[in-house]
Amino acid sequence: MERQNRQAGSADPLSLPVIDTDTVVIGAGPVGLFQAFQLGLLGLSTHVIDVLPEIGGQCVALYPDKPIYDIPGVPLCTGRELAQQLLAQARPFLPADDSGRINNLHLSDQVASVSQRADGGFAVATVHGLNVRCKAVFIAAGAGAFVPRTLNVPGLNDATHVPSNVHHYLPAPHALDNTTASWANQAVIVAGGGDEALSAIIALDQVPTDARPALLTLLHRRDQFQAEPALEAQVRELMAQGRVQLALGMPSGASLENGRVTALQVLGPDEQTRTLPLDQLLIRQGLSPKLGPLTGWGMTLERKQVSVSPDTFESSIPGIYAVGDINTYPGKIRLLVCGFHEATLAAHAAAAALRPDQPQHLQYTTTSALLHQRLGLI
Ligand SMILES: Cc1cc2nc3c(=O)[nH]c(=O)nc-3n(C[C@H](O)[C@H](O)[C@H](O)COP(=O)(O)OP(=O)(O)OC[C@H]3O[C@@H](n4cnc5c(N)ncnc54)[C@H](O)[C@@H]3O)c2cc1C
Repeated sequence: MERQNRQAGSADPLSLPVIDTDTVVIGAGPVGLFQAFQLGLLGLSTHVIDVLPEIGGQCVALYPDKPIYDIPGVPLCTGRELAQQLLAQARPFLPADDSGRINNLHLSDQVASVSQRADGGFAVATVHGLNVRCKAVFIAAGAGAFVPRTLNVPGLNDATHVPSNVHHYLPAPHALDNTTASWANQAVIVAGGGDEALSAIIALDQVPTDARPALLTLLHRRDQFQAEPALEAQVRELMAQGRVQLALGMPSGASLENGRVTALQVLGPDEQTRTLPLDQLLIRQGLSPKLGPLTGWGMTLERKQVSVSPDTFESSIPGIYAVGDINTYPGKIRLLVCGFHEATLAAHAAAAALRPDQPQHLQYTTTSALLHQRLGLI
């Protein structure tokens, strides 16, 4: 299975070489992925960047297994299936190397700044030190960068100094399923009471016996979950079998040692504070969108959305386009199909602006030899 890129930890901004490309797409949600496809069809290279460790934006982060019924020509698919199909479609322009790495898809990294360059292009910089020079920017940032909600405990919610054994995402299966895996035989606490937390508990319970955590605890403020009934039933069964412990209460403090958290203090419903020792803490309390750095990039915003012209989807800064849920214009509807339309028109507008001397002939994917060549079909 192909590996989608992850940035491991933070890097020295100066140590990463500058990337030159035609365009940058900010956001690997459904609209950002389709934007990359449309740009590729028009012969424009692109790099796609998303703060989440997975592609798919809201479709994967908020409703991966829920059905979508209103994609043209697709009577039914889930959020995750749609994201995978969009990636498959964009594959000619987001190619994987021999190791499965997609070099122009950058996940787990947040775009921090977009600034205009003297040559009329843009410099895009991320929090992990990626620097990209491009001619046009496509903001497909949805409701903003999705960042995980954390626990409101001193020492755990400072985004710049997260203890090394505090996680917000489950490690990839290959990092969990052998005896040398870092969570084998460890005391693991999963905090949360929704689908994400319960799915993580089930996934951790299912790793092979010799790689399984020695103690698996679900920490939630009360003995009621906000999860799919089927997930809850599975987790209740694991509790009944003694494979998973339930700890009830609000975390009130954390013991820290050498950059790691060694225990949580939890105030229980009986008003008693208990100490829960731990080796790994996985906080799965959902994601919240943060508009964050985007507000400082200079485009005109209207109620936290980027104002665009409805024929080109260009923002108030020429060369910066905004598509999907992040934009606003008269008649805007926040539906996938509208975002796909916007991405198509924005790509054509950008191609015309970047190649003013070349006539823009509309080509069909069914019949155009040029498009077949770009799609790698001939
Ligand atoms: C529960 C639910 C059900 C829905 N059902 C339907 C439906 O049935 N039909 C339909 O048409 N629509 C539906 N929608 C709406 C649909 O999901 C959105 O319209 C769509 O996801 C918008 O896509 P997008 O790519 O614009 O934004 P998103 O999906 O929000 O993706 C934006 C991406 O940009 C990333 N990002 C933002 N800022 C940065 C940054 N600075 N740096 C790096 N990355 C960044 C975010 O992390 C995110 O991954 C539903 C929405 C919800 C919440």
